[in-house]
Amino acid sequence: MKPAFLDQVERAGTCTGCGLCAAVSAGIRMTSVPPGWARPQQTGPVSAAEDAAIAAACPGIVVDERDNPHDPQEPLWGPQRFTGVGHATDSLVRHQGSSGGLISALVTHALRSGMVDFIVQVRADPANPMGNITTVSASADDVLAAAGSRYVASSPLAGLEDWLARAEADGSRFAFVGKPCDVAALRARAKADPRIGARVPLMLAFFCAGIPSTRAVGRILDQLGVAAPDVAAFRFRGDGWPGRATATLHDGSSRSMSYSDSWGDILSKEVQFRCKICADAVGGAADIACADAWYGDERGYPSFEEQDGRSLVMARTATGLDLLEAARTAGAVETSPVPVADIIAMQPGQARRKRQVVSRLWAMRVVGRPVPRYLGLATAEASRREPMLLKLKSFAGLVRRFIRGTA
Ligand SMILES: Cc1cc2nc3c(=O)[nH]c(=O)nc-3n(C[C@H](O)[C@H](O)[C@H](O)COP(=O)(O)OP(=O)(O)OC[C@H]3O[C@@H](n4cnc5c(N)ncnc54)[C@H](O)[C@@H]3O)c2cc1C
Repeated sequence: MKPAFLDQVERAGTCTGCGLCAAVSAGIRMTSVPPGWARPQQTGPVSAAEDAAIAAACPGIVVDERDNPHDPQEPLWGPQRFTGVGHATDSLVRHQGSSGGLISALVTHALRSGMVDFIVQVRADPANPMGNITTVSASADDVLAAAGSRYVASSPLAGLEDWLARAEADGSRFAFVGKPCDVAALRARAKADPRIGARVPLMLAFFCAGIPSTRAVGRILDQLGVAAPDVAAFRFRGDGWPGRATATLHDGSSRSMSYSDSWGDILSKEVQFRCKICADAVGGAADIACADAWYGDERGYPSFEEQDGRSLVMARTATGLDLLEAARTAGAVETSPVPVADIIAMQPGQARRKRQVVSRLWAMRVVGRPVPRYLGLATAEASRREPMLLKLKSFAGLVRRFIRGTA
């Protein structure tokens, strides 16, 4: 029989692909479904207890940040103890990183200082350079190899049991880097699994505009005039800020396109549905969340001109703040504070998404889709900040897409 959690996320279309369900039940594995998203597949029995445990933490069903070790949410940007901009001081890390290399510098500092013994994070799949695998990084070189955003499906929680078993066996501790939904699911699962609190003292996330499909990545290759089997390595960005989507071929040549062309014209058009109704795309459950600290152009829109990398950083818990301060003291990162009011100019899309979540959930209700429960995320307050006309437009636009079958 199909487990209730799976039935619900399938009817709602709200799977994020995080892989938590596959970690909780041996009867579930993650698979890729057209047009290239990670989804759970039932391969064996799922007990009622497993079904309930998954439903309590699956971000396609619930994101409940009320009892997290965080201060109350700022309605658009989540809990914060420090908000600023900065970068890794190591110029290679800053250059290879997606924006300022802060995530890589911070987890490397956590390794070097002995806070953790290894990092669970996502990197390019050597067997399929356009895809992702989850990897264990135990050195600065490993972390550098995983630096840079990869705009395609990842399921970093699918292997959670393996990492926890390893840590339990040798008494080690690890940091986790993931999408906001991955971290929200891990934080939620920690409420039922005490091994997570003991073994995972640090969780980092990045702001996330959503997971594009593998098909969209194929469109980039088409535009570059490249065949997938000829690709030896593929970067979505990084190696500069924002850096170019770059395919390096087996013959050593490379072809690339700008971030505005790859993300703006292709990838952002094929983002999975759940990401469009995300109430926590800023990684509110993380200890630290990083993002692009875009400079606004003269019209107030983020400018994607190439420049030295700069990350937005929010330390969200005492643990996150301690790490950030220690990394700063050790000279691993440089940061300077910015007022919360300035973030909206760096991240206008994320602000709009949060302000429109409530109207989009109403569109789901109207067409009879199950709706994820968002608790402790200040969604009502965020919605109050959006003009009624824009809320109506986002509501009607989504209903229209449901009716046309395009959402
Ligand atoms: C799908 C996606 C959407 C994003 N949307 C936004 C956005 O809307 N606004 C914004 O400001 N920033 C967004 N980012 C994040 C941004 O690109 C940078 O990751 C962020 O600025 C931090 O940069 P950094 O240089 O500090 O990180 P780095 O030092 O380069 O570290 C990046 C980390 O992200 C991990 N990672 C990369 N891809 C994935 C993946 N698919 N799944 C899980 N982990 C991954 C890597 O393992 C690495 O640890 C997005 C990233 C992704 C992958």
